[in-house]
Amino acid sequence: MTGLLFNPDDYDPAHFDPETRRLLRATIDWFEARGKRTLVEKFHAKEFHADFLRFAAEEQLFATLLTPRAEAGRAADKRWDTARIAALSEVLGFYGLSYWYPWQVTILGLGPVWQSTNQAARTRAAALLDEGGVCAFGLSEKDHGADIYATDMVLTPDGAGGYRATGGKYYIGNGNVAGVVSVFGRIEGMEGPDGYVFFVADSAHPAYHLVKNVVPSQIYVSEFRLEDYPVRAEDVLHTGQAAFDAALNTVNIGKFNLCFGGIGIAEHAFHEAITHAHNRVLYGNRVTAFPHVRAQFVEAYARLVAAKLFCDRAIDYFRSANPDDRRYLLFNPVTKMKATTEAERIVGLLTEVVAAKSFEADTYLTVAATDIRGLPKLEGTVAVNLALILKFMPQYLFAPQPHPHIPTRHDPEDDEFLFRQGPARGLGTIRFHDWREAYRTFQHVPNVAVFSEQADGLAQMLSTAPPSAAQQKDLDFALALGELFTLVVYGQLILEQAELIGLETQVIDQVFDTLVRDFSGYAVALHGKPSSTSAQQRWALTAIRKPDVDQGRFDHVWDQVAALSGAYQMKP
Ligand SMILES: Cc1cc2nc3c(=O)[nH]c(=O)nc-3n(C[C@H](O)[C@H](O)[C@H](O)COP(=O)(O)OP(=O)(O)OC[C@H]3O[C@@H](n4cnc5c(N)ncnc54)[C@H](O)[C@@H]3O)c2cc1C
Repeated sequence: MTGLLFNPDDYDPAHFDPETRRLLRATIDWFEARGKRTLVEKFHAKEFHADFLRFAAEEQLFATLLTPRAEAGRAADKRWDTARIAALSEVLGFYGLSYWYPWQVTILGLGPVWQSTNQAARTRAAALLDEGGVCAFGLSEKDHGADIYATDMVLTPDGAGGYRATGGKYYIGNGNVAGVVSVFGRIEGMEGPDGYVFFVADSAHPAYHLVKNVVPSQIYVSEFRLEDYPVRAEDVLHTGQAAFDAALNTVNIGKFNLCFGGIGIAEHAFHEAITHAHNRVLYGNRVTAFPHVRAQFVEAYARLVAAKLFCDRAIDYFRSANPDDRRYLLFNPVTKMKATTEAERIVGLLTEVVAAKSFEADTYLTVAATDIRGLPKLEGTVAVNLALILKFMPQYLFAPQPHPHIPTRHDPEDDEFLFRQGPARGLGTIRFHDWREAYRTFQHVPNVAVFSEQADGLAQMLSTAPPSAAQQKDLDFALALGELFTLVVYGQLILEQAELIGLETQVIDQVFDTLVRDFSGYAVALHGKPSSTSAQQRWALTAIRKPDVDQGRFDHVWDQVAALSGAYQMKP
């Protein structure tokens, strides 16, 4: 790796086992051999990624990485290992959302299956992966969006232990080719949770009608209809409340890949942008000699490093999760809403610098600028994830409890707990270790010290001028508060990871320069909310801080950025 960013040319994840390394390398080599011209041409031609699916099938890529040990038989390399799933998500994002997405929706499609005790369905899914097949997750419907309580996929008992399913699904990735489509519906005439069902359909069945691709893109995000589709007993994965929990728990698992997809896209965009700008001469100087351009690059770099640190650390909490440690349920939506919007912001900064270059037909930046918008909107919007994050705030800020230390988790274990996460409720009772601990460790870093004051101030404001009942119901106000709280959580895991990898102080300081400014910005936003009280407004104004300025530190980080110029260029 060239420093902290992924670089295909020197990528060697030595912490993985030989087969995982081989698969990651084979994937990179496949994209590089196919080349940039083909990559961007196919993107603009909106050509379905069938060649990638063939490659994945030949290499047993999805079968190896997505079959849990329980269904692995004698295949020693198969396991559900969040660390390597994250690594492939980043690699695929690096080459484009078009390749990350079919992998992502296969993960989602497998979620309800691997959570089910239906052995026939499990065996079928494992066999499908072995054959090189892909899966789909049929939750969303045209009229209901995020409201999954309302489903018009209706199952009618057939009198022989099975059902007939009729209804439509919308926004369903891989719905044109998937051999396993996990579909969410409800039994006719049964109101409430008791009526929910998750079952498996096959997109090749005659009663499965593919309507269209709802997006103008290389990926296939289908609308499909089931008309009197026979759902046999062996197709039923979950019923009642368990079906609803399986939906949410699947989204938990799948949501986690979005941040790595976004990071991969931003990394490729970064390599291309710095190489272009640093070598472009205007008025006799490099474009990167402009102070504002340099500032934008350092900003983008610091934000990218921050996202990587947070998400890498979140892997450890995912892999160490158990019924008594569900802290991952907070860190997960933070990876989702924060890291994906940060990736969007990073690509925004880069495209601002390269300007016209990000509209050209043959640049990756043009692809990145289009695709990066999608990630914050999948598996729950930013608002949905922020609303979720807020549920954890009281216990996180005010009731820390000791937990055993979680080390870096690169061991080749199967993360089987993710398929028995249990009821999706009780989020507000989850306890966390003391968030101030990480901040204390880094008080010698000037901007960590400044940010700690802001974070302490937030906790104090919540004690002395807490949101009223009406404000808690006012999502517009609560979301502004959620942004402030999220920054505290974000900073905590950034610091934990910085300590684990021994990151140099100057980079940490530069990262927290962005966090201090972001906190100030969200404080101003809270101040301006219609319902903020005068005490809250006063606090908001006192929370505004200027980051510590250190030209030597900035120049040091800039040197790291400049060193990335030419470090990687995709093979033509
Ligand atoms: C490219 C693409 C691929 C997709 N692939 C799949 C797939 O494979 N399978 C699948 O099942 N779905 C898929 N989806 C659907 C996706 O997960 C939904 O788009 C998402 O859940 C949001 O639904 P929506 O866009 O309809 O927004 P809506 O549900 O219509 O929401 C509208 C607005 O209301 C807000 N809102 C809604 N509920 C809440 C809440 N509880 N709290 C706060 N705010 C709220 C939202 O933030 C949003 O701004 C895909 C979507 C896209 C764009």
